[in-house]
Amino acid sequence: MTVNHKKFFILGEEILPGKGAKLSMNVAKLHNQTQVQIPVIVERGKKDGPVLLLMAGLHGDELNGVEIVRRVIRNGWNKPNAGTIICLPVFNIFGFLNRQRALPDGRDLNRSFPGSKNGSLASQFAYQFMKDIAPLVDYVIDFHTGAAQRNNAAQVRCILKDPISMELAKVFAPPFIVHSGFIPKSIRESLIKAGRKVLLFEGGKSNSIEEGIIVTGLDGVNRILRHLQMRTFKEAAPTVNESVIVLSDKWLRSPISGMFQSQVVNGTFIEKDQIIGMVTDPFGRSEKKIKAPISGYIFCINESPVVYKGDAIFHLGFKDKDKAGKMVIGD
Ligand SMILES: [Zn+2]
Repeated sequence: MTVNHKKFFILGEEILPGKGAKLSMNVAKLHNQTQVQIPVIVERGKKDGPVLLLMAGLHGDELNGVEIVRRVIRNGWNKPNAGTIICLPVFNIFGFLNRQRALPDGRDLNRSFPGSKNGSLASQFAYQFMKDIAPLVDYVIDFHTGAAQRNNAAQVRCILKDPISMELAKVFAPPFIVHSGFIPKSIRESLIKAGRKVLLFEGGKSNSIEEGIIVTGLDGVNRILRHLQMRTFKEAAPTVNESVIVLSDKWLRSPISGMFQSQVVNGTFIEKDQIIGMVTDPFGRSEKKIKAPISGYIFCINESPVVYKGDAIFHLGFKDKDKAGKMVIGD
């Protein structure tokens, strides 16, 4: 899907071929009447081509994506030869300032789409985005991390049965490609319903900047930009193993309350009955070893050092559709 943009207007500004602009999307006012503005960085190539949106910080404490988009800009990768690249490095600017996932009213921006003009603060953010940015774009990569202490192995989530999304996910070539259906009121649902192709990247955990995840994200962007013929690179991203496609999943829960230590590397394959972690009591009485009940790929580890019985601690993924539960993944 290549849109021929003879004239390209965004947030009231015309961007001419070969030019760029640093713009602001106005979303709300603080109580002292200061306007809250979200920086939007746009670069248009000399040749026509698709419009790609790279966005992060929809959850304000998910920093790996913010760093990935920052480095894309810093490297000059956001200046295409063909098409247009829009970067939105920090969407939920309130959450970013407060180092929180949600907005000040506690609402999750990713459960507030498509939003409304006079709704909650989150709803107004969503509305402005759907009105001013979403209609202009063909492809979106939305960067996230695990929530709280959950550390996600680098993965792209998408609707696997959509052939274009699946092709793009394979081009991105993360260690894992995870099926994720529509989550009601998420940005992904609204964008896909509006005909946009969306990849959701997940990697690492909140409030962290993790180099391995950032390099994986940047390599993925590099491959996508070449694939969409938007720009060339002196150094192409390295060739990596084919992504593991996760079709079913199972959460392993802590058998007791206590202090938790993982004994496996995130993203690796584990065998049934392998010892994968330990939960201990702080008083030296017990050390409960955790055995894998089934073989599979560990693609998320809860890095909380203290857990209650029943807390989700390991997320196991399987290539086989019917190996375990139906995929329930919340972006
Ligand atoms: Zn997120």
